[in-house]
Amino acid sequence: MEEYEVVIGLEVHAELSTNTKIFCGCGTKFGAEPNSQVCPICLGLPGVLPVLNEKVVEYAVRAALALNCRINLSDKFDRKNYYYPDLPKNYQISQNYLPIAGNGHIEIFVNREKTRIRINNIHMEEDAGKNLHAEDTGLLDASLVDFNRTGVPLLEIVTYPDMRSLEEAEKFMTTLRDILLYIDICDCRMEEGSLRFEANISLRRVGDRQLGQRVEMKNLNSFKMVLKALGYEIKRQEKLLTAGKEIRQETRLWDDKGGKTTAMRSKEEAYDYRYFHEPDLVPVIIDEKFIDRIRSSLPELPSAKFERFKREYGLPPYNAEVLTANRALSDFYEEVAGIFPDPKTVSNWVMGELLRILNEQEVSIENCRVSPGQFAELLRFLKDGKISALSGKLVLREMFLSAKDAGKIIEEKGLSQISDEREIGPKVSYVISTNTSTVDDYCKGKEKAIGALIGKVMKETQGRADPKKVGEMLREQLEEEKKKRKS
Ligand SMILES: [Zn+2]
Repeated sequence: MEEYEVVIGLEVHAELSTNTKIFCGCGTKFGAEPNSQVCPICLGLPGVLPVLNEKVVEYAVRAALALNCRINLSDKFDRKNYYYPDLPKNYQISQNYLPIAGNGHIEIFVNREKTRIRINNIHMEEDAGKNLHAEDTGLLDASLVDFNRTGVPLLEIVTYPDMRSLEEAEKFMTTLRDILLYIDICDCRMEEGSLRFEANISLRRVGDRQLGQRVEMKNLNSFKMVLKALGYEIKRQEKLLTAGKEIRQETRLWDDKGGKTTAMRSKEEAYDYRYFHEPDLVPVIIDEKFIDRIRSSLPELPSAKFERFKREYGLPPYNAEVLTANRALSDFYEEVAGIFPDPKTVSNWVMGELLRILNEQEVSIENCRVSPGQFAELLRFLKDGKISALSGKLVLREMFLSAKDAGKIIEEKGLSQISDEREIGPKVSYVISTNTSTVDDYCKGKEKAIGALIGKVMKETQGRADPKKVGEMLREQLEEEKKKRKS
């Protein structure tokens, strides 16, 4: 079998989280009553004129700067002509000839290797409406159209075919999502369609310079769907090429239920969108001052923060990456580390127990009921030996559920750590007398057996004993036992 290299490019549609639509004053709230957020402009009635929402330009410039793009100081809108029931004007206002920005890139890390994925262009456009069929409406004999989404601003981000594996495609998508969330221009809720993808993929023999015939895939609404569709296409194309067959240039649709892609249209059937300049809108002129103002309002981006977390807090790359992927999480971390200056411990507890609870309870860090101050206080109790690590986990969970302070919970539940030898001693003796085979193992030189015994004592004390003290006391008694047996 020949060896093939995978070549992937992505087009990302990001719905901008402006309050109003791109060319009219209608609201953009998701989930509103169908056709309640419409007006003559977004319904495409005759005689109306679009007016560009300045916020959209601002958001596009934010994205362009964050994605290291060159910004066109003068750009234009074009009409993309096609007919579809969810597009009342029969054309979409988009940017084809002079998009707002291009020539950018982002850097991604896959297996610790840094790879640069280039951005071909970023353009502004309006979203279409939504057709509702039987599965949405229950009506078997009719389809309905909801025009609320018509005219919601979209940013389309188009990459060069720079990705060489599924891992790179996945990393690109998550990195891009993190950036869009950081710069606060898109809520990236894929289940609501605010982030959607189209992918193109081709295979070529390893070492070949020329690109293979590419296939496009539309309407991919989640990371998982993109990866499944690409995975299927790689196998399909590999099989065809190995059998000496040709790949047809076509657009394919991912069938999520069937787990496969099917041909939608070939090159011959492709639409000719007959793009031409949008006569109802003047060119967009952007001045340097506008760009400077936006540049100075941008937050520190994930890649810069990642480097700073490694440097400033001495965190390993993995920890720095997890903590900086989410802006609110990185803020939480920094606030805790500011109060409790042991960055590694803070990172372990945030990434371990806190993220575990958040995931399990499906709560975002923004809605976490434990404040950074309360979290730092818990870490202080742990450091001072007031509670054991095991109790610490219980306390954190209780803090999360009840929003109470750690001190209060420790008191109420009687969780303070036991380090009094008079209290631990009897438990140690009990465990040694009831676990003879483990004690035998220890005496025969299997020193690791002590771990199991520590666990037993901890269990006897409901996790409240100081494990260090337990270890010391166990070792002492076991060594005595060993001596006794030798003599
Ligand atoms: Zn409107």
